[in-house]
Amino acid sequence: MSPSGAEVLRQIKSRIDEVDPATVREQSSNGTLLIDVREPEEWGTGHIPGAKHVPKSYLESRIEGAAPDRSQHIVLYCQSGNRSAWAARTLLDDLGYEHVESMTGGFTLWKDRGYEVETPRTLTAEQRDRYSRHLLLPEVGAEGQQKLLDAKVLLLGAGGLGSPTGLYLAAAGVGTLGIVDDDTVDLSNLQRQVIHNSNRVGVPKVDSAEETITALNPDVKVNKYPVRLGPDNIMDILPGYDIVVDGLDNFPTRYLLNDASVRLQIPVVSAAILGFEGQLSVFKPYDGPCYRCLFPTPPPAELAPSCGANGVLGVLPGTMGLLQATEVIKLILGEGDPLIGRLALYDALGATLNEVKIRRDPECPICSRHPEAISDDEMGVFPDYEAFCAGAH
Ligand SMILES: [Zn+2]
Repeated sequence: MSPSGAEVLRQIKSRIDEVDPATVREQSSNGTLLIDVREPEEWGTGHIPGAKHVPKSYLESRIEGAAPDRSQHIVLYCQSGNRSAWAARTLLDDLGYEHVESMTGGFTLWKDRGYEVETPRTLTAEQRDRYSRHLLLPEVGAEGQQKLLDAKVLLLGAGGLGSPTGLYLAAAGVGTLGIVDDDTVDLSNLQRQVIHNSNRVGVPKVDSAEETITALNPDVKVNKYPVRLGPDNIMDILPGYDIVVDGLDNFPTRYLLNDASVRLQIPVVSAAILGFEGQLSVFKPYDGPCYRCLFPTPPPAELAPSCGANGVLGVLPGTMGLLQATEVIKLILGEGDPLIGRLALYDALGATLNEVKIRRDPECPICSRHPEAISDDEMGVFPDYEAFCAGAH
């Protein structure tokens, strides 16, 4: 007659070393490797801080990755101490590990003793489905997706650039999108501002954008600012955001944004479009040049787009907006080489993408100084813009 399961377990336990949770806790700082052998759902509800996760069903195939050194002191734990005893025997008898113990009472006893527990935040089943193509990328994965969901990005404008950027950042699962725009949807916008539609002509752009975004992805929270960004409100709106997406169409506000973002040390992903050409750069305060390092003085008024309506190829803001969205996602994930200190130049007619290096100006009136030294009065200091534009006509 073969022995019962309980009898086999008793025999196994008599042949391996078991260790009490109190001892495991004391040993945690001296190089002992703690491995949780429970199933992913159990791990997801909480685990011992610092433990590695190798489910018992994948022990043979995954243990080497977690514990390449077979002479290392390893403690295994499960929920109650039985599965970890089995796993310890496998490591010792079959896989050549030398110093393996099983924690008595498992995670249940650990928790009952009131010891510290780490609860990982996990994606819901729906989120795992929605972001499945991200989860398949090692550069994103569940951890990266969580970073995206936690990120707060401020879009300045829900126009040509803000439309594609906002749409794709929402689709990607950027959890909070702030939108600053005081305009309403006009029929002439719809040639390129794809976040709006024909039924929303006359509707505030922030409301129209919110409707499209929440229909696309309910994970995204939209903060609406139906105002014109100015010196009176910029220091109230920007703080709390991780990244600002600049789709502004006028230079005075660009300078103001630059000065505030340097002061608050928030990176700005900036793009500009005119005709068939676009420009793009990432201004990360103190890591690279700021907007004033690149353009110490504004361009001549006749070249300043906000002085009047300018023609633009409808797809161009799409191209540049998606390059912006890509830079935003890279910054959130900490992957790739961001466009810091580089200005990308896109020519749609020539189908060329070039870049020029841009450097920090040691004499820059803003970023050569400590952020605390920049005062309210200095922010956005710029020639009188109305007069400036009037001179162009
Ligand atoms: Zn600068």
